Amino acid sequence: MTFDLTPEQDQLRDAVRALGRRYGHGYFVEKAKAGEHTSELWTEAGRLGYLGVNIPTEYGGGGGGITELAIVCEELAAAGCPLLLLVVSPAIAATVITRHGTEEQRKRHLPGLADGSAKIVFAITEPEAGSNFHRLGTVARRDGDDWVLNGRKCYISGVDEAGHVLVVARTEDSSTGKLKPALFLVPTDAAGLTRSKLDMEIVSPENQFLLYLDDVRVPADALLGESLDAGLPALFAGLNPERITVAAMGAGTGRYAIERASEYTATRKVWGGRSIGSHQGVSHPLAHAAVQVELARLMIQKAATLYDAGRDLEAGVAGNMAKYAAGEAAALAVDTAVQALGGAGMTTEYGVATLLGAVRAGRIAPVSREMILNFVAQHVLGQEKSY
Ligand SMILES: Cc1cc2nc3c(=O)[nH]c(=O)nc-3n(C[C@H](O)[C@H](O)[C@H](O)COP(=O)(O)OP(=O)(O)OC[C@H]3O[C@@H](n4cnc5c(N)ncnc54)[C@H](O)[C@@H]3O)c2cc1C
Repeated sequence: MTFDLTPEQDQLRDAVRALGRRYGHGYFVEKAKAGEHTSELWTEAGRLGYLGVNIPTEYGGGGGGITELAIVCEELAAAGCPLLLLVVSPAIAATVITRHGTEEQRKRHLPGLADGSAKIVFAITEPEAGSNFHRLGTVARRDGDDWVLNGRKCYISGVDEAGHVLVVARTEDSSTGKLKPALFLVPTDAAGLTRSKLDMEIVSPENQFLLYLDDVRVPADALLGESLDAGLPALFAGLNPERITVAAMGAGTGRYAIERASEYTATRKVWGGRSIGSHQGVSHPLAHAAVQVELARLMIQKAATLYDAGRDLEAGVAGNMAKYAAGEAAALAVDTAVQALGGAGMTTEYGVATLLGAVRAGRIAPVSREMILNFVAQHVLGQEKSY
């Protein structure tokens, strides 16, 4: 057993940290408040190869795994730049296309994802179905060689920045009534695909949308994979990378908040010569949050290692646990940091309250803490399903 990164992973961590710090949380917030995207950071990260670390080298990537992508997600977040689209585009879309796309789809999409010039977002959530993916109502109907898609999706991140959206639909001829999902690579400018931006209480340069698919016609090769049978395995292929990288983003955000607060409480003096951090009422909550973040990081490392070793089922358990732990730890760390800074904690300048919305959302998306607890109760503890 080793807890050390390889020298190459260490180098990656240092390099991404340096890049993130050059931009910093001030840049992230400024872009968010201006209604702009962090395009400069994304482009530079792509040029330096950080967005494609998990993509095979023959398609222009770094040939690494989810361990490397988790490092990128964590370090950018630890620098105050938690980029959700890292989870959606390189983690979910690139993994799904690499593992289950056709060779033509790999050649067409992966090089752009690797160098950051293209983004593919992911649309599964629907207003009616919610957490119950067996109720997905978006339908794909065959019409000659084409597919015609109809349905509604909600909270879909980054549609305004992406060239394609990977839409999870149900094939119309699934007579069994069981979920037979199929994934489609739909251009974001396809006729019949419209969107409206949701107003979210999250300070973020990345936006969420309602998506309307009204007779969206796509050619046969928009279906991900060689046949309809690719749908279910492709959908599952995206889940572990999603959970592990979103956990890494949470852990990085937690580290960022604790670091900001610790710097402040070590120097802030309001009672004579002692720092406020010398009072255990201030330092213990921060230390407690630091323990929770570090525990989550351990689970992330375990989940990523299992995933990269091809042990998908074990990675599923560890990835869900990592996501749960990191989501809780990040929310605790940011809230504790705000408290430790007092009034300064609520200012934009000190850059911690700006993360409250994001870490709160991290307990809901991409999978809620309750659905993870359901998963653990059923698959680890052997409990009966209640729903
Ligand atoms: C910032 C943000 C970005 C997002 N980006 C994307 C994206 O890019 N693509 C995408 O497809 N989706 C995206 N989502 C959607 C997200 O994945 C869903 O919000 C999430 O899966 C929960 O679904 P829901 O909102 O419909 O909640 P609901 O399913 O309505 O659930 C509401 C509450 O009830 C609980 N609950 C539901 N069923 C059970 C049960 N059986 N047992 C116990 N508790 C239960 C849930 O945990 C939750 O707390 C995003 C959401 C947010 C907030």
